[in-house]
Amino acid sequence: MTDAFIGLGSNLADPTSQLARAMTELATLPDTTLVAQSAFYSSRPVGPQDQPDFVNGAAWLRTSLGALELLDHLQTIEHRHGRERTQHWGPRTLDLDLLVFGDATIDTERLTVPHPELPNRDFALQPLLDLKADLTLPDGQTIVHLRQQCPDNNLRLLPPIPREPFPPG
Ligand code: AMP
Repeated sequence: MTDAFIGLGSNLADPTSQLARAMTELATLPDTTLVAQSAFYSSRPVGPQDQPDFVNGAAWLRTSLGALELLDHLQTIEHRHGRERTQHWGPRTLDLDLLVFGDATIDTERLTVPHPELPNRDFALQPLLDLKADLTLPDGQTIVHLRQQCPDNNLRLLPPIPREPFPPG
């Protein structure tokens, strides 16, 4: 089993409920358990500023899926949420990033793990810290240290939301 950490983000079509639904979908992936979900945060967009703020969070999964199989599932969930890739770093209904996959270092055309932007993103680092304060990257860097080094981008903790009922509906 591998501990995998997923970053979630949305800034369209009721972002908080996009994330809540996505958490439920992650919890029902095959051969996978949702260990914990982070609080949700609001953050300023990266890149073009003429778009709504994002809602971000992270999920801790324990899975026997391979990294690419997991990425396939993440992309299926994104598509289910009607995600269209119109603009690089533009608005999106749901973005799922594989941030950390156990102690794996992967550098292929489809998948780079740990996620290369992780050290620059307070909206990914902070939820990871909430989930597992002693999380360490395969190169030995701690998430605590990366969070201390990362510029703040007006990250704001959002009020807790009730977990989506299971099964959804
Ligand atoms: P994005 O704009 O962040 O949704 O980028 C999606 C693309 O990034 C997809 O084509 C993925 O194959 C690729 N990608 C590479 N590494 C990762 C990763 N760690 N998590 C998610 N997508 C990744």
